[in-house]
Amino acid sequence: MSKLTVPEEAGRRRTFAIIAHPDAGKTTLTEHILLSGGAIRAAGAVRARGENRRTQSDWMKIEKERGISVSASVMTFEHDGKMFNLLDTPGHEDFSEDTYRTLTAADCAIMVLDAAKGIEPQTLKLFEVCRLRDIPIITFINKLDREAQDPMALLDEIASRLQLDPAPIWWPAESGNRLRGMVEMGTGRFQPYARKPSGSKEDVPHPDALPLADAAQYFEAGEHEALIEAQELVEAGYPAFNVQSFLEGHMTPVLWGSALRHFGIDELLKAIGDWAPAPKVMKARKEAPPETRNAPAPVDLTVEPGSNEVTGFVFKVQANMDPNHRDRIAMFRMASGSFKRGMKLKVQNTGKSLSVNAPIMFFASDRELAEDAFAGDVIGIPNHGVLRVGDSLSESGLIRFAGLPNFAPEILQRVRVKDPLKAKHLKKALEGLAEEGVTQLFRPELGSDFIVGAVGQLQFEVMADRLGEEYGLDVIFEPSPYAEARWIGGDKADVEDFMSKYRPQMATDIDSDPVFLAKSSWETGYVGERFPKIAFTKTKERG
Ligand code: GDP
Repeated sequence: MSKLTVPEEAGRRRTFAIIAHPDAGKTTLTEHILLSGGAIRAAGAVRARGENRRTQSDWMKIEKERGISVSASVMTFEHDGKMFNLLDTPGHEDFSEDTYRTLTAADCAIMVLDAAKGIEPQTLKLFEVCRLRDIPIITFINKLDREAQDPMALLDEIASRLQLDPAPIWWPAESGNRLRGMVEMGTGRFQPYARKPSGSKEDVPHPDALPLADAAQYFEAGEHEALIEAQELVEAGYPAFNVQSFLEGHMTPVLWGSALRHFGIDELLKAIGDWAPAPKVMKARKEAPPETRNAPAPVDLTVEPGSNEVTGFVFKVQANMDPNHRDRIAMFRMASGSFKRGMKLKVQNTGKSLSVNAPIMFFASDRELAEDAFAGDVIGIPNHGVLRVGDSLSESGLIRFAGLPNFAPEILQRVRVKDPLKAKHLKKALEGLAEEGVTQLFRPELGSDFIVGAVGQLQFEVMADRLGEEYGLDVIFEPSPYAEARWIGGDKADVEDFMSKYRPQMATDIDSDPVFLAKSSWETGYVGERFPKIAFTKTKERG
């Protein structure tokens, strides 16, 4: 049992995600953060856990074959008096939609850059989502043990391409074979780097930090003086780190290291603990229960993380890892309150009540039943399709958080099952996968085909695999005549008028909202001009 108050518990949570272009080192860094946090004992454990999971879940063999991580999850660990919730985001660009949704549950992001490559396309995309959602960013420049770009050039790139003020917390002394260590701005503390002895399998521990002035032994001719000079230049040339400016999204503290060589990781974890924000006050609305007669208008309100009522939202639904069970696990991010196992929570939009008897906490090495949880925590709630992405849950059932975005798919395909007797089965399976957010499902107003939409091609592969493994359905995807999907909105009469004119291209999504399927981007533009009163949107907020 916790002896702390609810606001104190909320205040010691750090819920964060790592964003990176594929190959920048997100997986390696995750592992080494867990190592620094004492959550795992040896490097390699994250992958080992992954292997285990894969043997339990056949559809994930696709992950193994392609060497990518498809499903996002969370890892919780306690370190130095704080509770860290690390949200794992898939790195492959086809899964960006999933990543975007996961970021809605994060209070802070660690942006990992490859020191040789700087900002890459996927870094930029993910950064934009963080900016949109006011998520503050800590920068970690990785792979210093390899030949890196000039540190100042890297900082310039952050400033010019992201319009973010970089505040170097440390400054590296060289890179690659000449990497000597790094010096802390302000304090002048030097953290030496220890190279792996050639021929040895094991890394050696890095020596303790010491004042730079006393660290001459770690340098070769001229390097020590050069670093002392660089430190002065950098301290004079860059703004000092300002927490307020970081929290407002103007400034990013910059740390350096090598995930693979476990260098700079303790410093990064300390930065997260010290500076990443605790769960924020969230905007929400208080709504009348569904189907209330003469319901009063919704009231805008703010939810304090330290308040007593348990509230939160579902940002992801994962299929159960065990293919013999059809259970789904809803990933519930708490926004406030003190959760106890066995508690009853209500789903705001449906009014359904559920007893949360077997909530799961995800620790690095195993999963445990969550006895209690607080704002910032993510718990897995097993259910049979009651919970959907975007649902708001609370004790009163009246609190609704702004929805999570659905993105207009970029590829639309027709799906058919090879055995026509299984058509009904297909419908159920497609709905299940759409509810999980694996792909989007559109039912055209005319005809009986289903159109499946995805942000990337790989999503179709995952889908075909899962339809086969979990539902025993052999499906074929065929090109559809459509290139784009747009949600439509406007006055009822205008919407009805538009729909009657474009009936053959109208469809409904999983929530029965109307969607226009355009044959080309030209057509989207054309109908947009012809029907100025209709709003055609690329994203839809759910929940
Ligand atoms: P992800 O795709 O972002 O998850 O990247 P991974 O963590 O899988 O790393 C991609 C590759 O870079 C792997 O071969 C890692 O071993 C390697 N790598 C990651 N961090 C470092 C580092 O600090 N130094 C070096 N030299 N290689 C690294």
